[in-house]
Amino acid sequence: MSVIEDLIRSLGEAVLTGDRIAERHRSDASLTGRNLPSAVVRPASTAEVATALSICNAHRQSVVPQGGMTGLAGGANPNTGDVVISMERLSGIEEIDAAAATMTVLAGTPLEVAQRAAEEAGFLLPIDLGARGSCQIGGNLATNAGGIRVIRNGVARDNVLGIEVVLADGTVVSSLNKMIKNNTGYDLRQFFIGSEGTLGIITRAVLRLRPLPAGRLTALCALDGYADVIALLKRAQRELSGLSAFEAMWESYFRFNCEAEGRQFFETSPVFAAIVEQDVHGLDGEREQFEAFLGQVLEDGLIGDALIAQSEKEAQAFWRVREGHAMDRLLPSLVNLDVSLPIGDIGRFAEECGRALSTLFPSAHVSFFGHVGDSNLHIAFSVPDADQETAHQVDAVVYPLVAAHHGSISAEHGIGTLKRDFLDRSRSQAEFEVMRRIKDALDPNGILNPGKVLGGSGSC
Ligand code: FAD
Repeated sequence: MSVIEDLIRSLGEAVLTGDRIAERHRSDASLTGRNLPSAVVRPASTAEVATALSICNAHRQSVVPQGGMTGLAGGANPNTGDVVISMERLSGIEEIDAAAATMTVLAGTPLEVAQRAAEEAGFLLPIDLGARGSCQIGGNLATNAGGIRVIRNGVARDNVLGIEVVLADGTVVSSLNKMIKNNTGYDLRQFFIGSEGTLGIITRAVLRLRPLPAGRLTALCALDGYADVIALLKRAQRELSGLSAFEAMWESYFRFNCEAEGRQFFETSPVFAAIVEQDVHGLDGEREQFEAFLGQVLEDGLIGDALIAQSEKEAQAFWRVREGHAMDRLLPSLVNLDVSLPIGDIGRFAEECGRALSTLFPSAHVSFFGHVGDSNLHIAFSVPDADQETAHQVDAVVYPLVAAHHGSISAEHGIGTLKRDFLDRSRSQAEFEVMRRIKDALDPNGILNPGKVLGGSGSC
């Protein structure tokens, strides 16, 4: 019996083949996937995930886990002949424990659905990113997603207390811990968080919830240099009670997006613009403290100007410029690189990187922005008629420079296939070796997402 026949016999209607496979299963948001899988399995329970994996393992069949397909590293893209396990039916909030401040959630739940459920119960689910409407909790954990609020509550892995995973051979490992303290041996959840579907399929998680802020205060600041950006960040971390976001935009990024949005926030376009945001909890004097902070940094000459949003709509106008939606529309073949560097080096790195890219591609648009508060820099690169070869040339300029500054080639998007060949720029041979041993121990037949992260195709 073939693997597909075996899957259909055990899982029936949950298995789609041929014309019933939707186009969206070919590629994640990197739009680099071209291949149609041989089948898409849509399990509705952990037991069905386990059945699908044990069948695939017995047949040495390669498997690609898929969440919301918003990944930007090609990690969920199938090769021809792969079986996709799509988590979309394994969705729902199972419990919100108000005393423990936790949410137990199925992995296929869209992030935004989980965020709303937390808010309705009076909590904040701190994982947040632009793709919230489509990405899933399982995908967020598998990629260890970051986003704009990391400076306050950390990355995805900092907000997970427990996890349930199905291993390649169908073994269910349930570690649905709700406690913050639990030092009973190896921290198994952390092996799977950020493993991009190469070690197991995440089916459930216990997420940590935080108090829901009553609102946010948002300011847009104009600055003269990167040293001032760092100084403002340090002051905001020290003097503001609930700094929740600190985003920097380099001049060309800010100007491009302001023009595209039809906005002029400052008389002249500043060398740097920064969004400073803090959570408020409805206590007396919070707004006055925020205003006083900005007044003081203005007086100290750290910033040239500051605008404080007077409404949610005004705050959203600042964020629209930062999120750069217009760039996707207006710039051809936009490449968005995601790296991280020691915070103090980011300014110098951006100068060197901008120079190197502009020398190689004189007609390119190159601009920088990022969640500088957590060391993450994004590079927006666009050149007409860019193709795969152009992307390789850009990588070959950027990643060695990142390595020279002791940075990481992936801050938050993961490795997938797109950064796989550059992993050695950020990891040593010894680290590789340990990762390979973990992979071989948990997935000896190499069926789980072969070719992703570490490369190699196992025995599939
Ligand atoms: P997918 O794209 O479906 O899969 C991603 C990887 O996880 C693949 O390797 C897949 O095999 C694996 N996987 C998926 N589900 C599971 C599971 N249940 N078990 C095991 N493995 C699984 N990322 C950030 O970190 N920060 C941002 O600010 C951010 N902003 C974004 C904004 C936009 C507009 C877009 C399009 C993307 C953005 N991303 C960002 C990237 C992306 O949204 C994240 O990587 C997200 O966490 C992926 O989740 P997903 O459910 O879409 O996963």
